[in-house]
Amino acid sequence: MTALGDGTRCVHGGMADPVPGTPLLASPVFATAYHLGHPSYGYGRADNPTWRALESAIGDLDGGECVVFSSGMAAISAVLELCTGKLVLPSDGYYLTRTLAQSFDAVAVPTAGPWPSFAGAGLVLLETPSNPGLDVCDITALASAAHAEGALLAVDNTTATPLGQRPLELGADIVVSSDTKALSGHSDILLGHVTCASADLAARIRQHRTVHGSIPGPFETWLAHRGLGTLDLRLARQATNAAALYSALQDHPLVSGLRWPGAPADPAYPVASRQMRRFGGVLTFTLPSIEVVDRFLAASKLVTAATSFGGLHTTADRRAQWGDPVPPGLVRLSAGCEDTDDLLTDIQAALNTT
Ligand SMILES: *Cc1c(COP(=O)(O)O)cnc(C)c1O
Repeated sequence: MTALGDGTRCVHGGMADPVPGTPLLASPVFATAYHLGHPSYGYGRADNPTWRALESAIGDLDGGECVVFSSGMAAISAVLELCTGKLVLPSDGYYLTRTLAQSFDAVAVPTAGPWPSFAGAGLVLLETPSNPGLDVCDITALASAAHAEGALLAVDNTTATPLGQRPLELGADIVVSSDTKALSGHSDILLGHVTCASADLAARIRQHRTVHGSIPGPFETWLAHRGLGTLDLRLARQATNAAALYSALQDHPLVSGLRWPGAPADPAYPVASRQMRRFGGVLTFTLPSIEVVDRFLAASKLVTAATSFGGLHTTADRRAQWGDPVPPGLVRLSAGCEDTDDLLTDIQAALNTT
């Protein structure tokens, strides 16, 4: 059989063999203790069939062995614990990752580089596209440089999702993600995962989860699996909306610093188009002041202020309010799944009344 497409893999990933009278997507399994004698399922903190179903679906998309966690930060904590030696991480990456890195011997480098020598590094963590700046770095080149110094290379793939980018195929050892965002896609759960190229690394990550107890609830895991089924459809609409918004905002007098890695005019495009399979719905731009952002949000009927991204609804987040080192009027806009014409009309009208 020829390789299945993204949509088919999202819909069918992790589904059990059909058994008459059972649900298409197996129901969540709520259990602390199982009748003993099964090779995997004995105690709920160590393993759970609902996790295994989602891990099978995501692992297939990422191309490695997946371990799910209670949140993106729980997943990142497990990855950072693999670091022996210096930790190299993006200075423009997710703010809590930078906070967590303070307890390591850490060096922070902007995603757009230049990257230093990785001598003495135990772990290099990339975030590409970075959040919120949407800069991109070359995973293949940085993975070779890290491996040449004996360091592991991990990629925070939250913004891209496994449909947008497969870091393990580009040479990374580890993918880490907040599935709170586009992967689950409905802004109703927190979840994360780590996918490893090697079974040995995956076993260490799984052991970390068991020991630290950073386990997702079965119901949240099941909701994420349900959401994953429409990831292909959602990303397609979000990317269409982002492309249309990029064109509309490009020459708007109030807008500066517009970024979307999927636009040929974007500085990230040459590397992004080489290593990414497709683009998502997150754009960044800067309005002249906090007041202009507030007026824009008050005037828009479809864009709501929310500090997450990748969901069904179009959301905007003024990142400086959370301490990101960016201009006060910088907005991360996550295009949702609304109709393109409706979104364009609403956003243009809102900008024109501010
Ligand atoms: C949200 C986010 C995280 C943290 O994930 P949680 O699920 O909120 O714990 C990590 N990395 C990136 C890039 C994120 O956007």
